[in-house]
Amino acid sequence: MNILIVEDDKETLDFLRDSLKAEGFVVDVAEDGNDGLYKARINSYDIVVLDIGLPNKDGRQIAAELRADGKCMPVLILSVKGEISTKAELFDIGADDYVVKPFSYIEFVARIRALLRRPKKLEGKILQIEDLVLDVRKHIVTRGKTQKYLAPKEFFLLEYLMRNEGKVLTRAEILEHVWDINADLFTNTVETHIVNLRKKLRQRNKRELIHTVSGTGYKIC
Ligand code: CA
Repeated sequence: MNILIVEDDKETLDFLRDSLKAEGFVVDVAEDGNDGLYKARINSYDIVVLDIGLPNKDGRQIAAELRADGKCMPVLILSVKGEISTKAELFDIGADDYVVKPFSYIEFVARIRALLRRPKKLEGKILQIEDLVLDVRKHIVTRGKTQKYLAPKEFFLLEYLMRNEGKVLTRAEILEHVWDINADLFTNTVETHIVNLRKKLRQRNKRELIHTVSGTGYKIC
């Protein structure tokens, strides 16, 4: 899962980035409103976290401009007490949720996960293809009755494939969603993880679910 954090307080930013990365999220950061809006426009993030008070362009404006552009990823606002006082105000600026500073990391990450799980067209708590089940909330993958132990990147890779069941995903798309935007497109990172994932998901008398689409990428179905 790919997250952009726009926050000008270096300490908060570094802490959030390091903590989320440690959990396996892909994190991009911006310390300035213009840079944040630019990154949110040109990349496709699964969620954007916006501080309100920012240099050059504040979080409200960024949220409003993203919505005006038709970008519909969830937006979580970091606000100082009083900056947002009602839910209506929150929705008016195009945001989905907020946490009030100072906030606890546990609350923050719970809200991030809640937004990522929100029922939208491709979202759900339990993803299933035949006997392969991925529980987003519990972070558990099973095939039939067997639990599969995946590394964080393998889990996100599988989740991304399953949320796009039947659709061919290019290596670039996979890299962008599961790894950093700056990841080297010529490395075999994706292939290696696909190979490992296939191995881990393999089950006697069961068919392969992850398919290579020659010259294009991968799909699960
Ligand atoms: Ca600030």
